[in-house]
This record gives sequence, structure tokens and C-alpha cells, in this order.
Amino acid sequence: MNGDPFYSGIQLTGVRHKLEDVRLLAPVIPRSKIVGIGRNFAEHAKELGNEVPPAPLMFLKPNTSVIGPGDPIVLPSFSEAVSFESELAVVIGRICKDVPIERVDDVIFGYTCANDLTARDVQKTDNQWARAKGFDTSCPLGPWIETELDTEDLAVRGRLDGEIKQDGSTSQMIWGVRELVAYVSQAFTLLPGDIILTGTPSGVGLISDGQRYEVEIEGIGTLSNPARR
Ligand code: MG
Repeated sequence: MNGDPFYSGIQLTGVRHKLEDVRLLAPVIPRSKIVGIGRNFAEHAKELGNEVPPAPLMFLKPNTSVIGPGDPIVLPSFSEAVSFESELAVVIGRICKDVPIERVDDVIFGYTCANDLTARDVQKTDNQWARAKGFDTSCPLGPWIETELDTEDLAVRGRLDGEIKQDGSTSQMIWGVRELVAYVSQAFTLLPGDIILTGTPSGVGLISDGQRYEVEIEGIGTLSNPARR
């Protein structure tokens, strides 16, 4: 692919490489921000003893948290309890603000898989979630951006060393993609390449040194990352 797809469209070069001969990078490094949504699946809110929030619960991850497919998740020294979270990531395609629900499709570039890694112990003790959810390598993205996708009912799965841990569907989201983008855009101007994480289904758990987590989303593919201490 040539150029910057957000500004010049997708231009194929015609050159083909075998997947095993290349290293995939994260398909996007957000210009300004990753907006996460907490507790957007009722079963997940319940499993951690939380209520479903009355409105989408937002947090930020910095763009320095992004890594690509296969890159190691470096477990931070300040946490003994890092959790995986399989999520559908929305990639914004146009600068926008206060987007009405019926125009949200116009500002979405596409979708990819994300792992919203969370230092669960620090999330509880810090009060703010910045460190717990924003540490370096806490946002694997990939393997690519799917630009044509109906997100109403997609399987969202997660496997730890091959064992299925999360098995949900985007149909279980309390707020859907359009509602989330519209809501987030009331607070933030969204830039091309910004990401919105739509929340994780139940089944979250801890990942430790040497283990690998795979996020699989129907219609997109599989994002796989090892963890290292
Ligand atoms: Mg999450």
C-alpha cells in the first residue's frame, strides 16, 4: 500500500509478499487518542462486581500504548495483575465533532481487533485509570483494518494459550458502535486515525510472562501477542 490511506485513499502497489516473510505493524497509530469505553457488556460489569454505568464510561489510552500483531506485551513492573480484554476497535476516518447518530457511518474508516490490557490491581488503587490502562504496550491493534463490516452481531473471542476465555458478541454491547461514536464526539474532536474501543465481553482474566493472548473478531481476523515480564 502507498501513502496515507486517511488522506489519499487505499492505493495498492501490486507487490505481493508472503505473510510469513513480513512483520505486520499496528495498522494505525492514532494521531491523538484512543478512547476506551468501560463496562459496555453487562456480564463483564457483573463479573468484576461493578454496576452497568448510566452512560458510556470513557477513559483514554495514549498512542504510545499501541503495539502491532506479534509484538510483546511488556508486563509493567508496578502491577502483579494484568488482564486481557478482547475488543472491537473503531477507526475514525474524518475529523469530526458532535456527530449525529445517523451520520456516524460517514466518519468511520473501519474496524480492527484490540486488546485493552489493564493492570487490574493498579486500576483499583490509583482511582484514575491512566496508568492501569495506558502503560506502554497496553493496546495491541491489528492485524488490519476492515473497512466493510456490519458490526451488529459479530463474535468477539479471546484465547489464552489456545484456551477460549472470552466468547461474546457485539450484539451484547449496551451501547452500539453508532451510539458510542456519537457520544464520544460530544466530548472530543475526533481525528483521522483515532480509535474507540467498544468494551469487552465477560471472561476477562490475568495474563502472565510467557503466555499468549489472541483476540479474534468475526469478519476481521485474529490479533495475537505474547506477554513478557
Ligand atoms: Mg476494555
